[in-house]
Amino acid sequence: MYDVLIIGGGPSGASAGRRAGKFGLNTLLLEKKEFPRYKPCGGGLSEHAISYLDFELPRNVIEWEVTGAKVIYKDQSVKAHEKHRLSVLVSRDIFDNLLLEKAKETGIEVHAGEKALCCREMPDCVEVETEKTIYQSKFAIIAEGAQGLVKTCVRPTDTREEYGICVVAEVPAKEKEIEERLGKTVELHFGIAEGGYGWIFPHKTYYSVGISGFVNDFPRPKESMLNFLRKNGFSGEYKLHGCKIPWGGLKRKIMGSRVLLVGDAAGFVDAFLGEGLAYAIGSGQFAAEVIAGICLHDENFKDLSRYESICQAEFGTHLKYSLVFSRILHRFPDRAFKVITSNDKIIYKYLEVLDCRINYKDYLRWCLLNFKLM
Ligand SMILES: Cc1cc2nc3c(=O)[nH]c(=O)nc-3n(C[C@H](O)[C@H](O)[C@H](O)COP(=O)(O)OP(=O)(O)OC[C@H]3O[C@@H](n4cnc5c(N)ncnc54)[C@H](O)[C@@H]3O)c2cc1C
Repeated sequence: MYDVLIIGGGPSGASAGRRAGKFGLNTLLLEKKEFPRYKPCGGGLSEHAISYLDFELPRNVIEWEVTGAKVIYKDQSVKAHEKHRLSVLVSRDIFDNLLLEKAKETGIEVHAGEKALCCREMPDCVEVETEKTIYQSKFAIIAEGAQGLVKTCVRPTDTREEYGICVVAEVPAKEKEIEERLGKTVELHFGIAEGGYGWIFPHKTYYSVGISGFVNDFPRPKESMLNFLRKNGFSGEYKLHGCKIPWGGLKRKIMGSRVLLVGDAAGFVDAFLGEGLAYAIGSGQFAAEVIAGICLHDENFKDLSRYESICQAEFGTHLKYSLVFSRILHRFPDRAFKVITSNDKIIYKYLEVLDCRINYKDYLRWCLLNFKLM
């Protein structure tokens, strides 16, 4: 009988594993793939995300540093920069592998290449079934990301209205060329697909290029991606990866009687930007802390619901208003982006949101008070 069984070894699962291991919980982490593994992602790791790490990010993991953003809508664009670093760019195979190694350092048991098939909440334990065996644990943390189905023991999977679709490619390029084209800036192209945007992010040996949007308004994502690549001067043959991304800010059930959902499995993603790494790392740590409180300090079983309160207090309002902000902008795109691209104050203020100096609620209020977005 384990204290906690974690399903998924991505950023949320590995962070839960490291925290559980540090508390000395008897922990098993199941990851269906062998690491390092490819994960479709822009690889933007914000200072907010870095602030959750309890170790220093090694220099060799950081591929690029970003201080600003360029927003493009049709033929208009606006750029803003801070004096300090806003985010770094990482390759997810390397970053995720690092997090999993950091979890292993604490002595937890990790079974890579073992997929959880389902999870059952019993009166006195949780049973997790794999192709090899059935494990028993006092608690389980489901960190399987957006796509998995193990979470259906807590809530139904997201409907087509509750997630977006992304297509991403890594476009090889020389560091010098990337430097000349982007410098310390990320490009965000709006008006590509409804509900989302296209991005061009700098990495050491490639650009991460991708598009995202509402499933229902994005009938031919591959074609839209090829157009986006061509329009931006990328004319080679690239491997395209399609995947789901949950819309954050929706009310979702994130816990059962012995099971907690973390990261993308819980839907913790900024609905406007698609940033999820900060919330994945943070929620994984909170889940492990709450379970440790019950296992080690005889806290009441009902205290499991503290997990929900902590997530709500830490980023609930922020994610809720990321969705409101996104809906307003995408409802009136011509008007909103005309205002945004004609005044860099809105982008400069948005950099404060990225930096977590203000949340989306306050940002939205500021935008509505000062500019006619609608
Ligand atoms: C195209 C795209 C671009 C993005 N860009 C950014 C960005 O630039 N910055 C940012 O902050 N966020 C970005 N995100 C969001 C970010 O990738 C996610 O929020 C983050 O990966 C969530 O981490 P996670 O650990 O919850 O899930 P994941 O990273 O998806 O990890 C889940 C893990 O669980 C494993 N797994 C799944 N099912 C099982 C099972 N049954 N048994 C065992 N193991 C299982 C998987 O193999 C995987 O390793 C992007 C997302 C997408 C789709």
